[in-house]
Amino acid sequence: MSRTLQLAEQLISRPSVTPDDAGCQQILGERLARLGFRLESIESGPADFRVTNLWAVRPGAGEPQATRTVAFAGHTDVVPTGPLEQWSSHPFTPTHRDGKLYGRGACDMKTSLAAFVVAIEDFLATTPDPRLTLALLLTSDEEGPALDGTVVVCNTLAARGERIDYCIVGEPTAVERCGDMIKNGRRGTMSGKLTVKGVQGHIAYPHLAKNPIHAFAPALAELVAINAAGGWDAANAYFQPTSWQISNIHAGTGASNIIPGAAVIDFNFRFSTESTPESLQQRVRAVLDTHGLDYTLAWTIGGLPFLTTPGELVGAVQQAIRDETGIETELSTSGGTSDARFIAKICKQVVELGPVNASIHKIDEHITVAEIEQLKNIYKRTLDRLETLQGV
Ligand SMILES: [Zn+2]
Repeated sequence: MSRTLQLAEQLISRPSVTPDDAGCQQILGERLARLGFRLESIESGPADFRVTNLWAVRPGAGEPQATRTVAFAGHTDVVPTGPLEQWSSHPFTPTHRDGKLYGRGACDMKTSLAAFVVAIEDFLATTPDPRLTLALLLTSDEEGPALDGTVVVCNTLAARGERIDYCIVGEPTAVERCGDMIKNGRRGTMSGKLTVKGVQGHIAYPHLAKNPIHAFAPALAELVAINAAGGWDAANAYFQPTSWQISNIHAGTGASNIIPGAAVIDFNFRFSTESTPESLQQRVRAVLDTHGLDYTLAWTIGGLPFLTTPGELVGAVQQAIRDETGIETELSTSGGTSDARFIAKICKQVVELGPVNASIHKIDEHITVAEIEQLKNIYKRTLDRLETLQGV
């Protein structure tokens, strides 16, 4: 059995539902310690939601100032299984059927973690004294609130003045085959909670009340029209136009004879590098003000967009995928947010590269077994290429 498959199965056997690491980081840390990595466990969060993070580093040869750091990053936690009786085999018992490996975390993202570690082992077998500094950043809080995970490690590194030069996040990014898509950026996310104020009253005496839903309706039509026209900003080479969506509208008491006193509207922007939180906030306020609304508006920025333009890391990954699979990979910034948004603050070159994402978070999550070795080889080839770029 391949070492990557064996290690992936070992990890899948651990029921590490967020924020419980269930010993996964210890398994991976022990493998790295044997290769000369220095391990640092960084715990964070309240007693009832304790998050375990691991930062592991193996210094490269040569002057510390000159050596570049390449980090693999990912999460040991998995999402809950959902109803056990709907799984064809137990989610925490790695099981093979039809050339596929089934289990929670099979593609999001315990196989990537196994592939990271075995790729590093293979790389050090052929390059025992690399110029590259190698690192691994793991958290057990990516699928949860993500308040005590990767962001805490990144803040710790930033406070110490440590930097990462290249980072590969193992999130499942492929569409049909391993290597067919990587993420070289992600959109930002910002939510707004709008409260439009009215005056509550009897529905038969509207002149004595003020209906906040009626007041908001023209503004809503205008916001929807801007969005439908892709009018928040322009698409660029890497991003679609920014998108705006309402997730909830609440108003009314439940009674059919009362004009509500307020309407609460929740919405979210997924925004590109063409916009900033400030520019979008200003646009929304301008629309609300035009329509003379009495309102309050609270914003939550979930993450800023990031973009890694083609350069050393993107080039190395593209070539590694080409050499291993023959595929010309597609660069994409689609999909939700990931921990890469935190890493991008301390690392200029970040890409996400992992298995096919079709079954993530689902019942019967699985990965094609043949692609496990391929993924490990792509990571190994990427290290080889980055190493050849050092000291030239
Ligand atoms: Zn994930």
